[in-house]
Amino acid sequence: APGSSIRRRVLLKLSGEVFGGGAVGVDPATVRGIAEQIAAVRDQVEVAVVVGGGNFFRGAELSAAGMDRARADYIGMLGTVMNALALQDFLEQAGQPTRVQTAIGMAQVAEPYIPLRAIRHMEKGRVVIFGAGAGMPYFSTDTVCAQRALEVGAEMVLMGKSGVDGVYTADPRKDSTAQKLDHLTYTEALHRDIRVMDQTAMTMCNDNGLNMRVFGMEAAGNVTQALLGETIGTLVTP
Ligand code: UDP
Repeated sequence: APGSSIRRRVLLKLSGEVFGGGAVGVDPATVRGIAEQIAAVRDQVEVAVVVGGGNFFRGAELSAAGMDRARADYIGMLGTVMNALALQDFLEQAGQPTRVQTAIGMAQVAEPYIPLRAIRHMEKGRVVIFGAGAGMPYFSTDTVCAQRALEVGAEMVLMGKSGVDGVYTADPRKDSTAQKLDHLTYTEALHRDIRVMDQTAMTMCNDNGLNMRVFGMEAAGNVTQALLGETIGTLVTP
């Protein structure tokens, strides 16, 4: 793996939903709680974070409301940068050094995405937050998370979900017979139309041998447990 070091290296995906606490904007108390859980394991694991932006804008929704799709997607990407800066702030407050790297240049607030530099930051104990997605319309932050995990040599993707604590046989919010799965494969997830992440992202993980753990953000200490490699939620493998 590029820049292999002694500690485990993982990629944490936080969707926009997580930041907003179910609403539009950033919920400071929620983000502070997540930041403190990440900072708590700083000596044990190297962490990169990909942030979503759905709490601000989703390109597909703006496009359905009449905007040009590509421009709407750029608005969506800018939303992820707001989340990245909010997470950075609470991590720094918790004593955790950070760097934000964005796929769209914005020199005053973030470094550009430079993979080898991101690896070096993690080796030095900094948490690297990736913002602005891939910098390309028609992509999602799920796909970016698979790509960044592969490029910086993360051993697995940790998908923090809001409102659900793993992968179920059906949507547990709609179907009371839904059962939680401890393990499934990307192929099963694709065939059963289980939307733990978008299909492009699952295909990329499957093709490149990248494991993923899907877990709930709500229960106390869950982020820390996931970062430490404990077997919570659902493991998805090729
Ligand atoms: N987006 C994009 N290219 C990317 C990543 C994101 O165009 O590489 C846009 C897209 O419009 C998306 C929005 O940014 O709807 C927010 O990202 P996403 O929906 O993945 O966030 P999440 O669902 O994780 O909150």
